[in-house]
Amino acid sequence: MLGLMQNQPLLISMLLAFAERHHGDGEIVSRRVEGDIHRYTYRDLAGRARQLANTLDKSGLGQGDRVATLAWNGYRHLELYFGVTGSGRVVHTLNPRLHPEQLVWIINHAEDAVLCFDMSFLPLIQAVHAKCPTVKTWVALCDADKLPEGSGIPNLVSYEAWIGGASDQYVWPQFDENSAAGLCYTSGTTGNPKGALYSHRSTVLHAYGGALPDAMNRSARDSMMPGVPMFPVNAWGLPYGAALTGCKLVFPGPAMDGKSLYELMEAEGVTMAAGVPTIWQMLLAHVQGGKLKFSTLTRTVIGGSACPPAMIDTFREDFGVDVLHAWGMTETSPLGSVSTLKNKHLKLPAAQQMAIRVKQGRAICGVDMRIVGDDGQEQPWDGKTYGDLQVRGPWVMASYFKGQSPLVTDQNGVRWFPTGDVATIDADGYMQITDRSKDVIKSGGEWISSIDIENIAMAHPAIAMAACIGMPHPKWDERPIVAVVTKPGAEVTREELLKFYEGRTAKWQIPDDVVFVEAIPLGATGKMLKTKLRELLKDYKLPTS
Ligand code: AMP
Repeated sequence: MLGLMQNQPLLISMLLAFAERHHGDGEIVSRRVEGDIHRYTYRDLAGRARQLANTLDKSGLGQGDRVATLAWNGYRHLELYFGVTGSGRVVHTLNPRLHPEQLVWIINHAEDAVLCFDMSFLPLIQAVHAKCPTVKTWVALCDADKLPEGSGIPNLVSYEAWIGGASDQYVWPQFDENSAAGLCYTSGTTGNPKGALYSHRSTVLHAYGGALPDAMNRSARDSMMPGVPMFPVNAWGLPYGAALTGCKLVFPGPAMDGKSLYELMEAEGVTMAAGVPTIWQMLLAHVQGGKLKFSTLTRTVIGGSACPPAMIDTFREDFGVDVLHAWGMTETSPLGSVSTLKNKHLKLPAAQQMAIRVKQGRAICGVDMRIVGDDGQEQPWDGKTYGDLQVRGPWVMASYFKGQSPLVTDQNGVRWFPTGDVATIDADGYMQITDRSKDVIKSGGEWISSIDIENIAMAHPAIAMAACIGMPHPKWDERPIVAVVTKPGAEVTREELLKFYEGRTAKWQIPDDVVFVEAIPLGATGKMLKTKLRELLKDYKLPTS
């Protein structure tokens, strides 16, 4: 017997319709590529998303056709998120930090029909457009009078002229909630990039899950700044999550330096922000340097790579800002876990609470996780035993776009996505990542967590960034070394830093050497690129004594 409830498909247009009707005057503020501040409301957003939908219908794009974006965080990009998906097409967010050849590969693989780009990427588009035969329309995200003459790009139109003549009256179509809505390729450090194809259902459920109090705790009282760009994983789903709650949205545009982020946060009363640790490091450096305070920020979600405990501590102790350490992947939409305390932890001493906060956290209902050994058997949740992390759930990917399904099936026939991360899970369900499996350091048959080694270095006041990698060793197979960048004006010697490890980790886990570098290579989403670091240090030899 079926239930007798309304069977309304979970579509992204529903989020927009809700935001317009119930939070119509809710503000959306964007720093534009042009440098000025633009502000409008959810009501304006909805009207312009409908104009865009009419434009796409008129241009003959079919259901499921891909509309690509190459753009910073801003209101036009937001309109594309809603207008493209709501009308049944797929919004494909491209990462402008990729190598042009990689971008060309991705555009062709996705068969993008339209590509919308910020004017700052005009030279990039000029360089690649001839190699992208599937793209029939190039849309510059600018006013009609800003469209450059003689760009050499055929079928180039300004966004404002493109949607400008269209009606803002449109009835969002109803279709299967499992229809594709968003496409995002993983950076692909090995082999070709792979596409995660999100559905309306997965996107809407992810928006609900992310709003939960033990996830990001989002509400209509928030002013939210996605400090994560809108190209990786739909800016962690924050724009959709914003519409679901009707919170104020503040987009930093291309100005992602500490000063610009801080000033915008203060000016717009940002209460909640989210981003990778490298962004917050710049922000903290600015705030500490100027002896400033956050007057409205209450919490920030940090994920994408391990958040150093020292950063969690600084935000909390010096600025009264809670860090929500989160874990996720392109393939998991991305939110998988967030570290928040349980009731029984509230009376614990601060240091013990901190030991929980630094973990990658508990699964959000909807996502299930487990760790398995080399034999595929589930490992105990004791907080000590390592295993390969596997996840499943309605917003976890089943198969790559035009590719294979990476899922593995357990003895009960349940299918899991193997994350490629190595983790422990404790008795309370808190997961802690020790490494990407390919970054694990094995010394004398024992694993050393590169994240642990990095976190200790980052707790030293002179260190701005640290990356730990394994180096071949004749006796131990591998030994860790730590490459560090010092803070401007700060000094520390190799010996001092090695001494700093004493008492903070087991003796045999202390790195064999410290290498001082100008910068740690970062990938397209601001994560450390250890493959590149290994390449840079290919002639490095471990000290012999
Ligand atoms: P991507 O799909 O490019 O976002 O990369 C996902 C990977 O980033 C995960 O598999 C982890 O290795 C890493 N990652 C994400 N969040 C965290 C975190 N909080 N701590 C450690 N690693 C993380």
